[in-house]
Amino acid sequence: MSTHSEGEISRILYELGEDREQSYGAVAPAIVQSSNFSFPTTDRLREAFRNEHSTYIYSRGINPTVDILRKKLAALDGAEDALIFNSGAAAIFAGVLSQVKTGDHVLSVKKPYSWAQKIFDEILPRFGVTTTYVDGRNTENFANALRPETSLIYLESPNSWDFSIQDLRAVAALARGKGITTLCDNSYATPLRQRPIEMGIDLVLQSATKYIGGHSDVVAGVLCGQRERIQKIFRSEYMGIGSGIQPFNAWLLIRGLRTLPMRLERSERSASEIVEFLRSRPEVESVLYPFDPSFPQLPLAKKQMSGAGGLLTFIFKPTQVESIERFCDRLKHILIAVSWGSYESLVIPRCSTFPRSTYDANNPDHRMVRLYVGLEEPSFLIEDLRQAFAN
Ligand SMILES: *Cc1c(COP(=O)(O)O)cnc(C)c1O
Repeated sequence: MSTHSEGEISRILYELGEDREQSYGAVAPAIVQSSNFSFPTTDRLREAFRNEHSTYIYSRGINPTVDILRKKLAALDGAEDALIFNSGAAAIFAGVLSQVKTGDHVLSVKKPYSWAQKIFDEILPRFGVTTTYVDGRNTENFANALRPETSLIYLESPNSWDFSIQDLRAVAALARGKGITTLCDNSYATPLRQRPIEMGIDLVLQSATKYIGGHSDVVAGVLCGQRERIQKIFRSEYMGIGSGIQPFNAWLLIRGLRTLPMRLERSERSASEIVEFLRSRPEVESVLYPFDPSFPQLPLAKKQMSGAGGLLTFIFKPTQVESIERFCDRLKHILIAVSWGSYESLVIPRCSTFPRSTYDANNPDHRMVRLYVGLEEPSFLIEDLRQAFAN
């Protein structure tokens, strides 16, 4: 487990990267909504071209508002540099694409985020890159599946449905010295609760749409790592895919960051109360939450994370699909929707992701309901859950 000192977090969230004298002393940063930047002379433009990664030329590359966010998010992760994308999926694509070439092999944790899996299953094979999936709960599975041509180990810890965890230090040690890059999706924990770079992971990404934005009004992603690696990705995939974040959305994320620690704490505290409530319900078979005493990987969760946020999953006792649907449909305040990490509580039943005719009551995966606990008062949420369970 690693955390910043509290003073350090305040410096990053409220000061780092902001030069108020540059914008009339304005407390809120300026939104520099400009596609391009002018130069007084040809020679100054030539000089800018030589430092494209750090000079304002064109906003598909570097932009002053985006730069503020970039510095803050790199520092939060304990990374040297960061790139901010127009979605988490774009961060995944750029991160993965930058580490593979024809003939290479990717070793991925089983059931990664659906669009990561799409890249591995549908896009990379067209370019001669193959992927093997392993159960990441046991590090030996990675060791056993390594090949001479493995160039990337893709991790997501915890997973965003069942919260399976990989031993990040052990997997990083396995890859080190073999020329294999490790890339970890850290969307579940955020850098405030888990810092994979400090455990030896090379590249870390997260969907900033979730906790960083925090208000369900922006889609964005972050990719962090060592400066040289990030600059290489900037010059190639970042500029080429052209999916960098726009200044206004960057400004919204800077605003989201101001309250991130308090929002996470609130979600986390309410989540523990709701785990207790769910466990007391006769309809519920089990509750999955990485910091719950019943969680199978609790010691590892506590070793590499400092908290588990507001996302949990509970599993109905064997029942008909209709009763799971009825429970969700009856909720009055908790919304049925994808995503999480924002102010509003959300529910998504696993059975919504496949045709009703294939529902198997004997398969606990099919009886999963994922619940994101937002910022509402816990008693308000518990009452909503109680009335939805009733009859
Ligand atoms: C949402 C999500 C993503 C993708 O992020 P977008 O911002 O939706 O593109 C990636 N990984 C995980 C674990 C996510 O939950």
